[in-house]
Amino acid sequence: MHELPVTEKILDIIVAHAERNNVQKVVTINLNIGELSDLEDEWIQNYFDYLAKGSVAEGAKLVIEKVPVVMNCNGCSNTFQVDIKEMKEMQCPDCDSKDYTLISGKDYYIKNMEVV
Ligand SMILES: [Zn+2]
Repeated sequence: MHELPVTEKILDIIVAHAERNNVQKVVTINLNIGELSDLEDEWIQNYFDYLAKGSVAEGAKLVIEKVPVVMNCNGCSNTFQVDIKEMKEMQCPDCDSKDYTLISGKDYYIKNMEVV
């Protein structure tokens, strides 16, 4: 269960941002979460509902968009998207190399939020 610290961090950022901008209430928060991050949408919303009580973000709805896993081949510099179910077997579709670097799909970040 690593959703709790992640949710705390998200809430911290939201509250700090709301204070700087004199926001009265946060209505919706759009999050991008990498497919590899292993975070369950439902848990994040549950923790958020609990943690946000009494803050400007109380009752805010989280809209979570999954970010696909993208690799960059170290052999030919090709960039390709990966199905996480096929991660073990994967190789560069261009040069068949198995040497590549993850460039997206592991992180999470706040895309934007709707406030009143
Ligand atoms: Zn390649």
